[in-house]
Amino acid sequence: MPRPEPAAEPLAVPVFDAHTHLDAMAQRAGTAADEAFVGRAMADAAAVGVSAAITVGDSVASSRWCVAAAERSPGVFAAVAVHPTELDGLDDDGYAELERLAGSPRVVAVGETGLDYYWDRTAPDLQQEHFRRHIALAKAVGKALMIHDRDAHSDVLRILREERPPDTVVFHAFSGDSEMARECVRAGYLLSFPGVLTFRNAPALREAAAVVPSAHLLVETDAPFLTPVPYRGRPNASYLVPTTVRAMAEVRGDALEQLCVAIEATTDVAFGGPW
Ligand SMILES: [Zn+2]
Repeated sequence: MPRPEPAAEPLAVPVFDAHTHLDAMAQRAGTAADEAFVGRAMADAAAVGVSAAITVGDSVASSRWCVAAAERSPGVFAAVAVHPTELDGLDDDGYAELERLAGSPRVVAVGETGLDYYWDRTAPDLQQEHFRRHIALAKAVGKALMIHDRDAHSDVLRILREERPPDTVVFHAFSGDSEMARECVRAGYLLSFPGVLTFRNAPALREAAAVVPSAHLLVETDAPFLTPVPYRGRPNASYLVPTTVRAMAEVRGDALEQLCVAIEATTDVAFGGPW
C-alpha cells in the first residue's frame, strides 16, 4: 500500500495512535491478519512518526487476537472488550476470558465499550447493563476505560457518574460538541480525536477540539474507518495520523511540535507509559 506524499512528511515528535483495529484493517485489505501484516502497518506508521498503536477488540475473539498481536509486536498495545453492538452471546464465560486477557501487561485499556444508539441492533437496556459490567471490569483489573459513544452522550455521561469509573476514562472518536467536551474535561476524562476533524461537515467537532486543554487530548485513527481528508476512499491506517494531528494543531492554533509533545505526555499518563 503506497503512502500518499503529504502524510509521508514525518512528525518531528512521535505520537501514538490511541485507537485502531489492526484485525479489521487486514480483513478490509483482504489479507491475513498475521505478524507480517502487523509489521508492515507499524513500519509504515513509524516512518511518519507514529510510534505505536493500541489495537482494540470488539468481541471476545477479536480481543484475543489483539492481545496476541500486542504480545508479539513491540509497537502494539491492546484493549479488550465487547462492542455495544456485538453483545449477543456475551456471558459469564466471555467476561471471565476478557478478565484473563486484560491481565496481560500489554493490555492498556478495557474497551471499546459504551453505548451505540445509532445502530438499532441491541436494546439500550442491554447495552447499559453490559457497559456497567465493562466499567466494573476496568476497575477490577486497574486499566483505563475506553468509551464508544454514538448518539448516546447523556446516557454515557450519566452511567459514568453513577458507576464511578476508573481514574482514566478515554472517549474514543469523541463526537460531542464543545459543551460536552468541557463537561468531559471537568470530569477528568480524556478525549481522543479521529480523522473526522478534517471532514467539511464537522465544524462542531473542530470547536470541541479547540476548547480541550492539551493534557486531555489524544489522537487516533479508528482504522480502517474514519479516513481523514484528503484520503477519503482509501482504508484508514496509523500512517495517516499526521494528517489528523496537523488538522488538530491548526484548529487549536498550536505549534505542531508542542501539540505532539503534549499528546505523547497525555498518552503516557493514560496508558502507563512511557514505552
Ligand atoms: Zn473502534
